[in-house]
Amino acid sequence: MNLAEVIRTIPDYPKPGIMFRDITTLLTDARGFRRAVDELVQPLAGAKIDKVAGIEARGFILGGAIAHQLSVGFVPIRKKGKLPHETIAESYELEYGVDEVEIHVDAVNAGERILLVDDLIATGGTAGAAIRLLERAGATIVLCAFVVDLPDLGGADKLRAMGKQVTSLIAFDGE
Ligand code: AMP
Repeated sequence: MNLAEVIRTIPDYPKPGIMFRDITTLLTDARGFRRAVDELVQPLAGAKIDKVAGIEARGFILGGAIAHQLSVGFVPIRKKGKLPHETIAESYELEYGVDEVEIHVDAVNAGERILLVDDLIATGGTAGAAIRLLERAGATIVLCAFVVDLPDLGGADKLRAMGKQVTSLIAFDGE
């Protein structure tokens, strides 16, 4: 089974020129979903993880399944304004303007070892902000895991330049 074949590509969504890599077709495929979860944790090679952190929203689905598989807790990294308790936030650049991601102040303890998960890395802006947030809380990012990498946009290299281990299952050319 080729995982790339269960990812659907929607051209010109959400705007002209973008090839949207839709992982919902991977999630509805039982073998594809299981295989993605298994392969995303492989680089850990048994290394100890305290929590999985997933980025809203598709990172919640993959990250929740991975946390269950590893028998560890899950931390949702949410878009600004969604979390009810006291939060810490990090902003990141969008093409036009800025956005923010947040976690609860007590979601992560100092010294915890975290696996960061999202469906896709493009420019690395979102994942970079998530890493800064978790590190401000005193955590160590052991691995950043993505189903899809868009290497032409340089995000994975940016995270590697920050000293992070990055894994992805499929790379697509272009945006
Ligand atoms: P970035 O911050 O540029 O690395 O963008 C990554 C985030 O935007 C992820 O949460 C993705 O779900 C989403 N994203 C960016 N580009 C795409 C794309 N071509 N297809 C699907 N999702 C994308």
